[in-house]
Amino acid sequence: MAASPIILITAGTFTAAPPYHHEPEWNVHCPLAYVRAVEAVGGIPLVVPPLLETTTLETLVGIGQGLLLSGGGDIASLAYGEEPHPQLSCVDPGRDACELALVQAALQHGMPILGICRGIQLLNVARGGTLVQDIPSQVSGAIQHQGATPGPAVTHTISVAAGTVLSSITGTDTLAVNSAHHQALGRLGTGLHVTAQAADGVIEGIEGADGYPILGVQFHPEESLGVHPAFSRIFSWLLEAATVHKP
Ligand code: MN
Repeated sequence: MAASPIILITAGTFTAAPPYHHEPEWNVHCPLAYVRAVEAVGGIPLVVPPLLETTTLETLVGIGQGLLLSGGGDIASLAYGEEPHPQLSCVDPGRDACELALVQAALQHGMPILGICRGIQLLNVARGGTLVQDIPSQVSGAIQHQGATPGPAVTHTISVAAGTVLSSITGTDTLAVNSAHHQALGRLGTGLHVTAQAADGVIEGIEGADGYPILGVQFHPEESLGVHPAFSRIFSWLLEAATVHKP
């Protein structure tokens, strides 16, 4: 029996004083929900902090069979050639650089990639796309995407395009999702196409246009596993793609 695939999961940083220490220090931050979601479908989660050396990342890409780009703060706007909007917040250019390099290495290896929230945005930027820096001030007629109750509760619907991977995963053309983002995809990057949109036109899903195993969702399936079977099946998709991936 083949070994379970190793899934690289990106992480951010935060500063806080751990319980055994009095002084604040920088910490690796990866919500446990991503780790549990990957483990639950049979993957071996391997959390990748923002690393400095491209050679370290390339080694990890050689070890792993799948890549999960997790959520987090905003991507620095200069990464896609725009000046910062006043609402741009929580940027971490070091994390951006690490994840952009990780995606390039993964693409060179043909590694399957799942991007969630910040992760779908990172995927788009890595492929030369842009972002809407602040939905409330830049999308006319925008619905609420950054709800008062982040977590598992689903708060808005998305329309899922027929004939897409997301359509086959969800088995529906309308899905209620959670939402915790004030940014969204702008101009689409190369080799990607849209699989889902909210009622206001905000992009909520993308996939590889050429059959390359890329899936991106703007919502947080890892937080809503018990709400709809589709959310767990998104992670199963990554596991199945990772299982057939040969580094
Ligand atoms: Mn949304």
